[in-house]
Amino acid sequence: MKTLFRLLIVTAAALSAASCAPRQAAVTPRPAAVQPPIVQPQVAAAARPLMAPLSSAKLAALHANEMGRIPILMYHAINGPSFHGRKYDPNGLNIASATFRKHLDLMYAAHWYPVNMRDVLTAHIDIPAGKTPVVITFDDARGTQFRYLRDGTIDPNCALGILEAFHKSHDDWPLRATFYVLPKSAWNPAPFWQPGTETKKLRYLASEGFEIANHTTTHRLMGRLPAAQLDWEMAECQRYVADRVPGVVMDTMALPGGDAPKNHALWPRLLNGRLGNIVYHNRCILMAWGGPSRAWSDKKFDPDRVTRIGCGPGWVERALAQMSQGKIHEYISDGNPDTVAIPRAEAKNVNSKRLDGARLVVYDTGRPAKTKVLAAKKMASHT
Ligand SMILES: [Zn+2]
Repeated sequence: MKTLFRLLIVTAAALSAASCAPRQAAVTPRPAAVQPPIVQPQVAAAARPLMAPLSSAKLAALHANEMGRIPILMYHAINGPSFHGRKYDPNGLNIASATFRKHLDLMYAAHWYPVNMRDVLTAHIDIPAGKTPVVITFDDARGTQFRYLRDGTIDPNCALGILEAFHKSHDDWPLRATFYVLPKSAWNPAPFWQPGTETKKLRYLASEGFEIANHTTTHRLMGRLPAAQLDWEMAECQRYVADRVPGVVMDTMALPGGDAPKNHALWPRLLNGRLGNIVYHNRCILMAWGGPSRAWSDKKFDPDRVTRIGCGPGWVERALAQMSQGKIHEYISDGNPDTVAIPRAEAKNVNSKRLDGARLVVYDTGRPAKTKVLAAKKMASHT
């Protein structure tokens, strides 16, 4: 664990170092045509009767633990160009398409289940029993995340192409991921690099159920950014996307380079602000390091410092192994969005103000379970 922690700190430092010093982008003119709103499926909530909680025996058999850790993975380029003379980056800022495919295979085998970032900011996480939610995040709107080929089809080796192919061959793996976009930076003359296609791409992502979220406007590091520029960085990204994807909900943000304002009094400006007629509201701030995240209803969950897992060589594999083997207690769903089901040992960690009306169900595990967690999850998926 110590080694992992050290690696993560190294990543953070490297990410900050790797970030460019971007310039302020010119304000983009609004498109003339008003587009119809896109309804994002993950936002719509259907009215339905409450589900009854499972028995203690069933919860124990599942190893249900809705206070366990949630992996939030951080990707940048997938099969991108060489950087500083190296094809693949030791800090995971550029990985091979094959590596990303391998990660998906491993996640699927570990019974992880993709959701968007905003979907875990609740006590009502809605995933099947025995599954662990995983948030796959992509930073910087890099070209290798979403690329069209000359014939207009999606490049099967870009991140989106890989996700779509995986969804096609695994019908219980929904299309979910969160794209922390930038209108303009060193990595993208327009979001996802192919100027002229950015509106089509952003609208496509939203309509497919992906989350589009705020990674600021120019990727300027925020450590010593004056308040007014900080407001502009947040608001202009919101305006840029909202002008192109009417009805879009942007309510989470990721810090450029993982660099937070040194002056803590400025942090609320990352969450809420107004600039002219642009209003933005974010429910959490994502860092660039720190390991698996605490769950929303955990007393130690801090929405100002949500942790992520980078994808340097072996890092995702290590996190998967540690969580599947129970070395880090992972969030395991009881399949019921109306309850927060936890083993008694977790009861002391509950923040009762973050139950959001869900019913807390505490069960006894009896003697320490000898069944491997992964085996229990496999069983759950077959019942
Ligand atoms: Zn970034």
